[in-house]
Amino acid sequence: MSHTTPTGRRRVVLLGATGSIGRQACEIIERYPEHFELVGAVAGQDAAALSALVERFRLRHAAVVAPPPGAALPSGCGTGMAAACEVAAMPADVVCVGISGAAALRPTLAALDAGTDVAIATKEVLVMAGELVTERARASGARLLPVDSEHSALWQCLRGEDPAGVRRLVLTASGGPFRDRPLADFAGITVEEALHHPNWSMGPKITVDSSTMMNKGLEIIEAHFLFDVPYSRIDVVIHPSSIVHSCVEFIDGATKAQLGVPDMSLPIALALTGGHRLPGVCPPADLAAVGRLDFLPVEPARFPAVALARHAGETGGAAPCALNAANEAAVAAFLAGRLRFVDVIPLVAETLDAAELPASPGIEELAAIDAWARAAVDRASTAAMSGGG
Ligand code: MG
Repeated sequence: MSHTTPTGRRRVVLLGATGSIGRQACEIIERYPEHFELVGAVAGQDAAALSALVERFRLRHAAVVAPPPGAALPSGCGTGMAAACEVAAMPADVVCVGISGAAALRPTLAALDAGTDVAIATKEVLVMAGELVTERARASGARLLPVDSEHSALWQCLRGEDPAGVRRLVLTASGGPFRDRPLADFAGITVEEALHHPNWSMGPKITVDSSTMMNKGLEIIEAHFLFDVPYSRIDVVIHPSSIVHSCVEFIDGATKAQLGVPDMSLPIALALTGGHRLPGVCPPADLAAVGRLDFLPVEPARFPAVALARHAGETGGAAPCALNAANEAAVAAFLAGRLRFVDVIPLVAETLDAAELPASPGIEELAAIDAWARAAVDRASTAAMSGGG
């Protein structure tokens, strides 16, 4: 359903308003006041940053999912998941979901059930519960709009095309900081090195996911659910400079690609407008200055996460949920110094193997699988530490 305010501005609700995507969305909203009005905001934990936002945008609807004990809250600000879902379901034209990880699921469903279009930056929502989320969107008629740069590129390439003419979706991947590092040196990779992404500035979890390429694996699953294309027709190619954001191949042999500088403002703005282009969101890519565009195949031994995620996607049901939870926990263990970089993906694979997975899980079963996988990874990473490994 489409709602418009009397002034014609699109009413935006931000979930994860104080995170990386939320802050960039706030900048877009402020740069284009004739197009957008921020009407509600939810933060995961950062009550202080949310208070500043409430003041800056004179917000009347705000919530913090899990504020630190004793944190000062803006007046009228709710706390907890139910309060977050209430803000997500308020009258709006688009809800932008940038809360990191599994905490984004319930508010996303609340927005979709209210019939509001959801601009989705948190790919974990589609990875853990893609079947549930797409079903609920279909039921209410709300649209799922991609914010992830690759999926925004696919969306731009697919617009105006007959789905029957599509042969393959091709996601581009930068290959992260370890694309050229000798495999023999992987055992020594530090947290600092994994957090240094060559092209994009993002939060720590997704930056580590880029370095293992689990991010691209999760994006395969995300693409499957956003565009309803089977896994066998979604591929990945390494493109180090992140200028080509992804491509679509058609049955006649044509390939369409979307190019641009690596800047999340563009996909955020395009999703917030529901697909309309605004003038001057970011500078165009200067192709003569770029000079050359390189493409390379993905080495399976270097990046086992890609095949692992594809396998989980093809298994379906609760498998992607277990994959996602195990990966979040393993990345957290790596960032906390409890797990070596080279052990992150093998531990995710082991956990997925050991999981007992229901075929068509509901939200409670997904939550149980999610909790089980996290606990299994935490036990294994703690045991590895105390074992002196
Ligand atoms: Mg991406």
